[in-house]
Amino acid sequence: MICDIFGSNVFTRDIMRQYLPEKEYEQVAQAMAYGGKISMQTADAVAKAMKDWAVERGATHYSHWFQPLTGATAEKHDSFLSIKDGKPIMRLTGKQLIMGESDASSFPTGGLRETAYARGYTAWDMSSPAFIKEESAGTVLCIPTIFVSYTGAALDTKTPLLRSMDAVNTQALRLVRLFGDHETAKVTSFVGPEQEYFLVDREKYLKRRDLIYCGRTLFGAPAPKGQELDDQYFGIIRERVGAFMKDLNEELWKLGVTAVTQHNEAAPGQHEMAPIFCAANIAADHNQLTMEMMKRVANRHGLVCLLHEKPFAGVNGSGKHNNWSLGCDTGSNLLDPGDDPMSNQRFQLVLACIMKAVDTHADLLRHSAGNVGNDLRLGAQEAPPAIISIFLGDQLDEVVHNIVHKTADNDAVADNLDAGASTVPLLRRDATDRNRTSPFAFTGNKFEFRMVGSSDSVATATTVLNTIVADAFSEAADELEQAEDFSTACRHLIRRYMKQHRRIIFNGDGYSAQWVQEAERRGLPNIPCMVDAIAVLTAPKNVELFEKFHIFNQSELESRSEVLYEIYAKVINIEAQTMLHMASKHYIPAVIRYCGELATSINAMRSACPGMELDTQEQLLRRVNALLQQASENHAHLAQVTEYAHSLAEGEAAARAFREQVVPAMQALRAAVDKMELLVNKAYWPVPTYGDLMFEV
Ligand code: ADP
Ligand code: MG
Repeated sequence: MICDIFGSNVFTRDIMRQYLPEKEYEQVAQAMAYGGKISMQTADAVAKAMKDWAVERGATHYSHWFQPLTGATAEKHDSFLSIKDGKPIMRLTGKQLIMGESDASSFPTGGLRETAYARGYTAWDMSSPAFIKEESAGTVLCIPTIFVSYTGAALDTKTPLLRSMDAVNTQALRLVRLFGDHETAKVTSFVGPEQEYFLVDREKYLKRRDLIYCGRTLFGAPAPKGQELDDQYFGIIRERVGAFMKDLNEELWKLGVTAVTQHNEAAPGQHEMAPIFCAANIAADHNQLTMEMMKRVANRHGLVCLLHEKPFAGVNGSGKHNNWSLGCDTGSNLLDPGDDPMSNQRFQLVLACIMKAVDTHADLLRHSAGNVGNDLRLGAQEAPPAIISIFLGDQLDEVVHNIVHKTADNDAVADNLDAGASTVPLLRRDATDRNRTSPFAFTGNKFEFRMVGSSDSVATATTVLNTIVADAFSEAADELEQAEDFSTACRHLIRRYMKQHRRIIFNGDGYSAQWVQEAERRGLPNIPCMVDAIAVLTAPKNVELFEKFHIFNQSELESRSEVLYEIYAKVINIEAQTMLHMASKHYIPAVIRYCGELATSINAMRSACPGMELDTQEQLLRRVNALLQQASENHAHLAQVTEYAHSLAEGEAAARAFREQVVPAMQALRAAVDKMELLVNKAYWPVPTYGDLMFEV
């Protein structure tokens, strides 16, 4: 059944072979796998094949499908309909397939283009297959594309990802060649993203403006029960949620997304889905499709899927664990330690380079996981702190220890080890223990970068990972390619890198307060706020890095910084406006009504039974009223600072004002309202509570 529907909406290689003449098929298959150009004649043939296949499946439109800097995907539907000799025909040309032009001034560009020069181009990403989406607006053939400006500057998340995949491929090939591997023709960065999400009842969702406008709750006292009993994680999946998961899987399978794992997550109402890993750009596309499908399918079940990093305060937030590795087309994985890592010099070199890359560019990696929602998650319940460190597990840590502490004498031993002897216990695939608290953990044959936020694209984090590792590979290769005695030089380099960068390894509890102090002692950066992380992008060392590998040039980096400052200010502004709205339209009037009822009841009781003790009612009224005054003052203050921050010119200053003034004012208003929630009769409370939202799905 799965096999019957799997990929049925994807224009796969097999389908292409069926629809294309052999010559054209060979040309396009080669370009897909290894890059390179195709002729216009081939493009025409592929376009016709795609169109014929899609039209047979009921498609009426095609769309260049891309990922602008909004974080979402964008699509503009164009019909295949064309008129020839006065008659309607269905047509898709090679030119239309390869390139699209759109007025892109409405997408975030960070000043890269003036509105007057608003041309943006979408260009076909041949390495990610086209697919069909069945939408209410019609069945659409989606062609994955990149999105660039008139001058070729990247305006999306996909272009730099593809560039970084090329960079790490080139440098990794140099590295494997050093070990005498002349067979490997391509090294691919693989990603398997685990997607966490919450489901809430749609009726209840519609009663909360914060969920509607911001995707997270801006108010809400904790429910009597949270996740403290650990009874949610891997718990039994509720009927309604199960029906959602079943439907979601089917939709994803049709799109060729290998949804395989599903379970309940730590917080009530929280769940996870993981696919089988694949090439990073396809994983990024699939993950975007997954998020889109989660939202659509939830609707069908009277649910809403929340992809925000922190929909509810006080319980687990949602992340997107980015499982990453580098694989050769010959089948071997550069991150596989094998049975005996102590004698696996290639693995050791790769590991040493990754340690160097992550330590040198911890700031960039942290930046890559920054988004507004993640500020609320990193360092909070069950989430890694905003400090980058690597978890290796005991056995690999021992390998690093042995290498670092080896004396000159031990070099001879290492030669023997190279010959196959082993002094450390075998490392079995699962022998790396799990450490949920590490932001960057080695898990058997891959690294798992856990900082990434649930709503973010995996593209940004993967771009940074690929680039920093490409850099370390390149420096190692520069040195080792010149070495007279490769094996000895390599051993020395591995030891040097590991020694220099060992501070990045931390196998302890990353959630503990001691770690924050320890990290500071080690000189590791701790950047809790996204706004502070933005400057990292344009730091000279990082500009140099990105330019060296042609991932971004300086102006692309500057424009991205601008976009991020703007996004931050806009998101917080929307949140603040929503809070002001909810407080003045929902909470304050409801509490005034409740106070009125208390007062009426006190007066009524007093006149019915003069002299009767009314302490309970009176005290309650006083307490609620005091909080009401507090809420009202905090409301006024929030309104004032929001107006001020909003009046500043867009950019860093505005983002900082939102961060430093508006965010604390939001917290103050929330605190007063949440306290009232605990005192006020539920019948008066104007919106569903945390308990209603998280436990009644
Ligand atoms: P864990 O339980 O340690 O998180 P899983 O086996 O559940 O690991 O895998 C989680 C994700 O990692 C899945 O998406 C899986 O496909 C992916 N994954 C497994 N091996 C690799 C690899 N070599 N490279 C990238 N991702 C991988
Ligand atoms: Mg995992």
